[in-house]
Amino acid sequence: MDKNRIRSMWFLCLGGVLCLSACSKESEPVEISEDQKEKVLVALVAADAVDGETDKIIKKCATCALRMDGKDEHAMQLEGYTLQFCSKRCRDICAKTPVDILLKTQ
Ligand SMILES: [Zn+2]
Repeated sequence: MDKNRIRSMWFLCLGGVLCLSACSKESEPVEISEDQKEKVLVALVAADAVDGETDKIIKKCATCALRMDGKDEHAMQLEGYTLQFCSKRCRDICAKTPVDILLKTQ
């Protein structure tokens, strides 16, 4: 009797952990479709060159059309590039719609 109880509690725990890991995955950057990837990469290369260094770190805020300086604390990864944003808000906007944002920087 008690054994069954412990077992069901164990499964509840396991279910909770699985749910948590699934939920945390939602905050990862969105997937970019194959046909958009090429355009996004062109935009990333161009945005990377704006700060004078092609080091795969984009130091200007893409959401602000590369007009503002980005900060390391508001950075995100995309297609092997590090994008730095001027604020958390800009970072969140780009994390949700990276294609729209990056194609606007061109
Ligand atoms: Zn910004």
